[in-house]
Amino acid sequence: MAAVSLPAEASAPRLLGVEDFRAQPLVYEELRRIRQGLPFSHAYLISGAAGAGKTSLARLMARMHLCESAQPPCGHCRACVQAAAGTHPDLIELRAGQPIDPEEMKGKPKTVIPVADIRELRRRLALTGFESPRRAVIIHQAEKMQEESQNALLKTLEEPPEGSLLLLVAESPDQLLTTIRSRCRPLALAAWPDEAILAVLRASGLREERIGAALEAAGGSMGRAIRLAGDEAYWARRRELTDDFLGLTARSDIPAAAAKYKALAQPERLELLREIDELLRHLTLTAAGLGSTDSLGAYPAPWQRMAREAGAAAFVPVLDAVTLARVRVMNNVNWQAALEQLLLSLMEAKSQWST
Ligand SMILES: [Zn+2]
Repeated sequence: MAAVSLPAEASAPRLLGVEDFRAQPLVYEELRRIRQGLPFSHAYLISGAAGAGKTSLARLMARMHLCESAQPPCGHCRACVQAAAGTHPDLIELRAGQPIDPEEMKGKPKTVIPVADIRELRRRLALTGFESPRRAVIIHQAEKMQEESQNALLKTLEEPPEGSLLLLVAESPDQLLTTIRSRCRPLALAAWPDEAILAVLRASGLREERIGAALEAAGGSMGRAIRLAGDEAYWARRRELTDDFLGLTARSDIPAAAAKYKALAQPERLELLREIDELLRHLTLTAAGLGSTDSLGAYPAPWQRMAREAGAAAFVPVLDAVTLARVRVMNNVNWQAALEQLLLSLMEAKSQWST
């Protein structure tokens, strides 16, 4: 019988450690207690907005619980390595649509955690652990447990099997039964300050020219920042858009540049405009002195000069041009004409900064 585990943060460049949570004082305090071997709760309810780092925290706590060293998680022992790889037999991860036993899910909706899953979980927790007496359970999106499932879990929370750690993860913890919530120690993740996200991005080995851009694109979400840091496809796409929209030098190139994006459906047109807006907002923030100029290296020279010398106000017309293009798309104005107008506005804005 093999435990069902998800790949450990597949696109993440590295796993978060205790020190990464310094900016979340209550969480940090709890992690330090656990690391020092002080008694901790057998069940936690980890909550926070999307991208707040709930999954990273749950997996960190699971690794700390399973680690065989005196300073968990050591990152080197067999338990740490297996848990990081998602192959530890005593780390059970549950989420809607990914049950412990796939057979149980046949014909059932994939949007809930059915009671059969909780019963199977209880059965396994009643057995002796594979590798050690310790077991860790992560229930992702715990609010997707049906009421019957929550009631079944209640028994486990009331009489937790020895050595087990239960980690419930929820974006909307108030959707859980009060009886469940009252039996878990709450760990709420707040929005992350930019400095904390920056520190994690730097520690991830992200190139300096990407750091400012990743911070801006993350919008306060630690989860998104971590995903972006290791997402080569995202950076390749960003380079392509930078070339296509910020690199044009001749008016005569505009129709061909617009034609490249001709076939997009309406949602994709809006997504493209959002991505262009993201590039320009990063430049604007840097111009306002809110980001490191080290990250400007990814942009064509005139835009770098504009961000260094012109001030943020100079970017208002180009941001307006993107907004105008968005309005045109929503009003079904000719897409190619809207795009060509945007490209022209971008070229005009940068032309005064070309040497
Ligand atoms: Zn270890």
